[in-house]
Amino acid sequence: MIQQLRKIKRELVKSGYPELRFSPRPIYISMSTLDEETAATFGNDTPGYDIITVDHFVDTISLEARVGLIAHELAHCVIDRRRGQHWGAIMDFLYPNSKTIKRYEENSADRMTVERGYGKCLLQFKQEVGEEGYGLTNTEILRMIESGRYPLYSVRV
Ligand SMILES: [Zn+2]
Repeated sequence: MIQQLRKIKRELVKSGYPELRFSPRPIYISMSTLDEETAATFGNDTPGYDIITVDHFVDTISLEARVGLIAHELAHCVIDRRRGQHWGAIMDFLYPNSKTIKRYEENSADRMTVERGYGKCLLQFKQEVGEEGYGLTNTEILRMIESGRYPLYSVRV
């Protein structure tokens, strides 16, 4: 499955996240066992590369939901790279301890995922996983999709 996730990532970068395409800092994908409510994490604290870690349970969700999940993690990457190092470090420090920061970060990543055209995939992910978490609610995502202001993409792998 990791091969498929890597393919999804490559396709997403090509079609939805062009600013990541020619970046000298690679984004790797790995699989691990994360804590119960976490499907994936985005890590930027390694020198030389960023890493998206995906929990093994992602094996059991649909392709569309996987696309939604990876698109969301790539949005974290874009948001993170737009920040200066200093501000990035502050946010990394605050994130685990502040519900407000978590909500802000997850909302921003979800919003970007929809804006980049992967709203349906993100909604599919949220519906399959069934937890609302800190990001946008399913209703909010649906409202954004139905506004017709954003493209609707999927990924063929
Ligand atoms: Zn997130």
